[in-house]
Amino acid sequence: MILRFHTFLIAAAIEERAMNVVIIGAGIGGLTLGLRLQQAAIPCRIYEAAPEIKPLGVGINLLPHATKELSELGLVSALDSVAVSTREIAYFNRFGQVIYREPSGRFGGYEWPQFSIHRGDLQMVLLEAFLERAGAACVVTGHRCTGVKQEAGSATAYFENPLTREALPPESGDIVVSCEGIHSVIRKQFYPNEGPPRYSGINMWRGVTRWKPFLTGASMVRIGWINTAKVLIYPIRNNIDEEGRQLMNWVVDIETPHYKQQRDWNRPGNLDDFIDAIADWHFDWLDVPALIRGAETILEYPMVDQDPLPRWSFGRVTLLGDAAHPMLPRGANGGAQAILDGSALAELLRGSSDPVAALKDYESCRLPPTSNVVLTNRENPPDAILREIFLRTGDKPFAHIHDVISQDELVALSERYQRVAGFDKQTLHATLGGQAYQAASV
Ligand SMILES: Cc1cc2nc3c(=O)[nH]c(=O)nc-3n(C[C@H](O)[C@H](O)[C@H](O)COP(=O)(O)OP(=O)(O)OC[C@H]3O[C@@H](n4cnc5c(N)ncnc54)[C@H](O)[C@@H]3O)c2cc1C
Repeated sequence: MILRFHTFLIAAAIEERAMNVVIIGAGIGGLTLGLRLQQAAIPCRIYEAAPEIKPLGVGINLLPHATKELSELGLVSALDSVAVSTREIAYFNRFGQVIYREPSGRFGGYEWPQFSIHRGDLQMVLLEAFLERAGAACVVTGHRCTGVKQEAGSATAYFENPLTREALPPESGDIVVSCEGIHSVIRKQFYPNEGPPRYSGINMWRGVTRWKPFLTGASMVRIGWINTAKVLIYPIRNNIDEEGRQLMNWVVDIETPHYKQQRDWNRPGNLDDFIDAIADWHFDWLDVPALIRGAETILEYPMVDQDPLPRWSFGRVTLLGDAAHPMLPRGANGGAQAILDGSALAELLRGSSDPVAALKDYESCRLPPTSNVVLTNRENPPDAILREIFLRTGDKPFAHIHDVISQDELVALSERYQRVAGFDKQTLHATLGGQAYQAASV
């Protein structure tokens, strides 16, 4: 009886001292971390700068390493109901000739799907699940973080009202995690002298158009090469009207020496700045200029990233997602790596009573593989296949693709990136728990 009472007291003490996590930013990484912590019974609260969380952005892809994580959160059917389950990734030259087609997600033998999805839909699925599971009080909007301080045994985040800039009450926790995306104030606090973002020499225009299904109706296509233009197109919503059209996401990348310095995901773009580069891309399987001219939204974004950091964790504060490793959006991995970070951090906090050590372990586990993705996206992203064909053909049409490159070489180019980013089939099916987050080094 006495022993049972003693055990009860210990359990109550542990319960009382449960770790408390302050998350800054309710984007893809912050919400995934929140859901993973909730699953691990670790209390957390998310502070978001936006006064209201709106479904912003255009398309984003979730490859199987990301959907594996989201399936462990029980979100696959919710995502399936708003996304397109991608059937294949296909590569073409700028004359519309097929170079390589590869089945994707479950169609390619993975246990998990590949989803092409509106970023806003993804954010809303994550947000609704988090609110339902953790409670409405666990998301606080209209709180822009202005910095962090640490005391013995806790870390405190400071806030202001993003509209009036009036100071708001600070919030303390056992740890603070910056999931603030590319404009992280906390990253800036730890790295005040970090230079401007590194421009890749490629400017990017993105948008969405209502359009009829093409190819398989769930194809993600990459066409051409950046000297002229490289275009990525994939559907992100099915059956959006009575004619059975889809919401088609497209991205045009063009080598451009000068760029507008602002890194703003919502900056409007201008059709006339890029449409000439693809004006004659009328293929029998898709009229590319017509699709792009039909856009209801056009945004512009420079392809920039930042050099990998030497460390993310400083005592009780760490960085996650784009705040930790902003990367060129060339491999459909910005969202996925943020999701993997969130899972890894929650797993390490769950197994630890020492938050400072857990944050260091998280950094050791996630910094090397994500740095590898950042650097690979610069030199050898998945569209390296297109560069190879561009170089070998001198940007001319070919009689037969096998005269230019063998199927084995194409497979090897594709699989190389899969290994770097951590979604090659073999590794993904073999890894369990924390192992998956360490991805691969190649
Ligand atoms: C508005 C917007 C639109 C985007 N559109 C696309 C897109 O169309 N396609 C694509 O591939 N990627 C897009 N991204 C980027 C993509 O979401 C990320 O690259 C990726 O998912 C990694 O997620 P993250 O959680 O690290 O960052 P994000 O998803 O960018 O989330 C960061 C969150 O932190 C909040 N925040 C920022 N600073 C503070 C602060 N100081 N205090 C409190 N909260 C703060 C932001 O409002 C945001 O909600 C977009 C991001 C944003 C913010």
